[in-house]
Amino acid sequence: MASKIGDGMGAISEAVVTKCPVVVADIALDPVLGRLLHPPGAHGDGGEGGDGDGASYRASSSWPIMSKRGQILGILSMFYQDAGTPSSTDMTLVGIGTDLAGIAIEGKIADDTIRHLAHHDELTGLPNRFLYTRHLEKALAHSERTNAPVAVLFLDLDRFKHINDSFGHVAGDGVLRTISERFTHCLRSIDILARVGGDEFIVLVDDFSTPHQLGEIAQRLMHEATQPFEIDGQECQISVSIGIATYPLDGADARTLLKHADIAMYRAKATGKNNYQFYSATMNTHTVDRLALETRLRRAIERNEFVVHYQPKIDIETGLVAGAEALVRWMHPERGLLYPGAFIELAEEAGLIGAIGLQVIDRTCAGIRRFDQAGIHFGRVAINLSARQFSETALLNDVARIVATHDVTPSRLEFEITESMVMNNREEAIGLMDRMRELGYTLSIDDFGTGYSSLAYLKRFPVDSVKVDKSFINDIPHDANDSAIVQAIIVMAHTLGLKVTAEGVETATQLEILRGFGCDEYQGFYYSKAVPEAEFIALLQRQHALAAV
Ligand code: C2E
Ligand code: MG
Ligand code: MG
Repeated sequence: MASKIGDGMGAISEAVVTKCPVVVADIALDPVLGRLLHPPGAHGDGGEGGDGDGASYRASSSWPIMSKRGQILGILSMFYQDAGTPSSTDMTLVGIGTDLAGIAIEGKIADDTIRHLAHHDELTGLPNRFLYTRHLEKALAHSERTNAPVAVLFLDLDRFKHINDSFGHVAGDGVLRTISERFTHCLRSIDILARVGGDEFIVLVDDFSTPHQLGEIAQRLMHEATQPFEIDGQECQISVSIGIATYPLDGADARTLLKHADIAMYRAKATGKNNYQFYSATMNTHTVDRLALETRLRRAIERNEFVVHYQPKIDIETGLVAGAEALVRWMHPERGLLYPGAFIELAEEAGLIGAIGLQVIDRTCAGIRRFDQAGIHFGRVAINLSARQFSETALLNDVARIVATHDVTPSRLEFEITESMVMNNREEAIGLMDRMRELGYTLSIDDFGTGYSSLAYLKRFPVDSVKVDKSFINDIPHDANDSAIVQAIIVMAHTLGLKVTAEGVETATQLEILRGFGCDEYQGFYYSKAVPEAEFIALLQRQHALAAV
């Protein structure tokens, strides 16, 4: 029990307050010690000693134990059987004793601090990787006996580097502290959260019964991450990508589980960030799934299961549809409509993209004829090419054949290629692009800004326009860097005589800012997502009808 320190509180308190040794030559005169050792009622207050051990002490001295920086660490109290002051030898010896005690106590505090630091992250106070791994190993050992599942969630903040770059490291540290507090609050007290790198966290969950519950935890963490916060009076927002690995399915030991959760996190990043992925969902079953999907893809090509949806491109100045992008969809007989994200990569790896690509060109040319028949007019239709197609020597002949079959003039078509496709085999790619332009096709650089090329390369590419990648548009107006990049791309492209299309425009604010930057066209959910042919025709017919009024 702590007692209040103050005047008249006795020798020990006085030593604390004055930070000097306090000698009591006659204990009976000390208000505290006197009362403790000679309680009233015991015979002979202040007399020749009384009952018990305390009664035989007549004098005392209290010595503060000080830290090197002058803080009180403790008090050493000495009791003497005879009244009077201690000898100077005693004084010297006790002085040395308290100095040594101070050194020992400080050493112990430092040891504890070092142990805490070795196990915790200094910035957030959360456990570090070392401590986390120990917890995880313990949970795994326990789980081996009880068969209870264990899950590792690997979290990596999205675009945190932007915060550091734009606002500095002090602000970045503040964000990390806030985020870790938010994460801690949204987790249950039994879940263990650790910080394991700059913007990386891991969570250990060992009390769940279904993957669905893990999904809910991941969603709560994602929700917390996306809550806006203020830095220098500016509202900012980040997000988090999460990978989940579970024991025993995804690994038998801590190291494997952490590695697999990390891999799953990278998949979450690759699928657009701000989401979570299970390692096992496709990875463990990857080979099996992959073979089945590949077989189904081959059949889909034979059975013409691919359709094309059209997403309008809008002229920012007139607000009218000025073109469209043809985006492939797979009408899977059992799984329904599949988007390119679910099959393009595999089609590329399996060498099937060429065949699918030709079907897309065929469907698009047939579509263009039907647009003509429906009497709708707008600019070109853009078709995406993948790297494999772009390097196939037969490409130009194949395209020429399809275009001729449908009697469509090349000027109705635009091809979208990415920077990396050009950068890989620069001279050859530029030669192919030149020939395509000579034949009358239009070319644009898709997803501009995500590849390796700099703006300076633009002038070497024989293209007509650039499409600014939607990742830059996403954070307009919140991310000052992104806004500046978009503005720079637009200025540079215009200088080189190129048209600029912004992709992924989802809000009126983004559109207004792009208009201010002088962007030519946009594409995005704000106007319309990619729609089936009939819907696209209806949309344009409405536009024509409005224009006629
Ligand atoms: P991309 O060429 O950059 O196409 C734009 C993608 O962004 C489309 O996704 C489109 O639906 C989506 N998008 C458009 N507006 C918005 C928006 O406002 N917000 C968001 N969040 N997304 C928007 P989709 O159709 O899933 O296509 C994905 C990618 O697949 C395409 O990216 C393209 O690289 C590839 N792809 C599509 N069709 C083909 C094709 O026929 N051949 C090849 N080789 N690749 C294709
Ligand atoms: Mg595209
Ligand atoms: Mg794109």
